Amino acid sequence: MLLFVVYAMLVWYGSLRGRRRLSGYAVLIGGVLFLLLVNRLHLEVAKMYNFVEYVAVLRVLLYPYIALVGGIGFFLVRLPIDLPRGELHCKVCRYDLSDLKDEVFGGGPCPECGATIEEAKSRAGRRLARKRLQKRNREEPNEMPGLSLGIAGSTADEPDYSARDEYQEG
Ligand SMILES: [Zn+2]
Repeated sequence: MLLFVVYAMLVWYGSLRGRRRLSGYAVLIGGVLFLLLVNRLHLEVAKMYNFVEYVAVLRVLLYPYIALVGGIGFFLVRLPIDLPRGELHCKVCRYDLSDLKDEVFGGGPCPECGATIEEAKSRAGRRLARKRLQKRNREEPNEMPGLSLGIAGSTADEPDYSARDEYQEG
């Protein structure tokens, strides 16, 4: 019985984490399909060994369970990704555009991904901007703010200095 609860929790967690994205829908659909498959296999095995009437109760419970997992999962996967109220975020990369409202509403591009408001309105435009951002990140990986912060704050620079000193001495 615990397994059913854990399984439902996993599907719901995956749906919530990936909500409004392909990964969330994939977890939800995969999770429900797996249950239907198990249900189907269970019936086949029961038929094979002629104990269908003994597992009828389990099967009656299983359908509401699958509906519950799927229903709550669907609710979770449709939950909006919460962004702070009153702030403006890029629809493509979620970059905070609150300080750039004038520029952005005037047709200026997002400084992070280069998408304009017009572009971010359509699905095709968002996809294009996302591709552009991915391409840029591939070509200039050091431009990623998280990565450069990590290097700047750490001791990663020190081996470089010592290496340079040794080179000059030798
Ligand atoms: Zn952006």
